[in-house]
Amino acid sequence: MHRSEITVDLGALRRNVRTLVRVLEGAELWAVVKADAYGHGAVDVAGAALGSGASALCVATVGEGLTLRREYAGVRILVMGPTTSSREIAQARDAELELAISDEEIPDGVRVHTKLDTGMGRYGTARLPELRENVVGLMTHLATADTDQEFAREQLRRFEAATAEHRHLTRHAANSAAALRIPESRYDAARCGVAIYGLSPFGEDPADDGLEPVLSWQTFLAQVKELQPGESTGYGRRFVAEEPTWIGIVPVGYADGFRRDMTGTEVRVGGELREVVGTVSMDSFAVRLDRELPVGTPVVLLGHGVLAESHARVADTINYELVCGVGSDPRRARRTVMDG
Ligand SMILES: *Cc1c(COP(=O)(O)O)cnc(C)c1O
Repeated sequence: MHRSEITVDLGALRRNVRTLVRVLEGAELWAVVKADAYGHGAVDVAGAALGSGASALCVATVGEGLTLRREYAGVRILVMGPTTSSREIAQARDAELELAISDEEIPDGVRVHTKLDTGMGRYGTARLPELRENVVGLMTHLATADTDQEFAREQLRRFEAATAEHRHLTRHAANSAAALRIPESRYDAARCGVAIYGLSPFGEDPADDGLEPVLSWQTFLAQVKELQPGESTGYGRRFVAEEPTWIGIVPVGYADGFRRDMTGTEVRVGGELREVVGTVSMDSFAVRLDRELPVGTPVVLLGHGVLAESHARVADTINYELVCGVGSDPRRARRTVMDG
């Protein structure tokens, strides 16, 4: 039996995609499915996204693009990360992937999106190179769409100035945060990742933007015991009971993606929010209960009102990083459901 199970709700994903398509008011939605769809499973997510209004797929590597091409013939697939070898460029050409190119030298025979660095300070050229006929798109990436709209708008002004003469090419700049909050970022397409998974790019409640979490993660209480005053649970004795205290032991730990810095966050035990106490171990952690509960009581670590955004706040990270760590373990039981 598996110690925990994740569920990927493709019905929720489809609803998120449809919500974003509406928000974009005519700009295309391109589904970003890099990093195995942020841990959600790229092939299934890509199919559901394409079936509910997304018109292209974006990945980080040629390898990811090739995997998707085997499943989805004829769909636009953009590789956003750097292409390092001529072998990779040849593979991309043969599979009809499109490449984001961040320097002035543009490879032959493959469709290219020239990437401008307008302030991200990462990939991209400072100036537009001479555009050859295989350049089909112009793109940039925003550094602060979630935190500083003023700087994002400055980046968009630079992008507009550099690309205004090339309106016939597909221009795209927005990520999820920009798609939701900065209408002038939308151009011809928005590259949305986090929002299609029902996660808030702002670290807030995704419901505020009409989004539903796609990933949930369930386990159970493997042991229940009462600590007496002075007794502790876990490594380092970081939680010591001050009064008789029921605790439950959950058979999931940092090796499963439940991070060591999530002590203090809340999970749902038998329907009620309960605090994680003591040090998170490699494959277990403890929750404080208010009474004795049976072994086997269901525990929800994510989903059903337990937000990745809340865990991320406790762990001083972002929901993106959390879900990538949860979904990536192939040993975990995984269920994909479609409920609408
Ligand atoms: C990952 C990525 C995105 C998607 O960002 P979200 O915040 O997840 O929507 C868009 N564009 C580029 C270039 C990316 O690397």
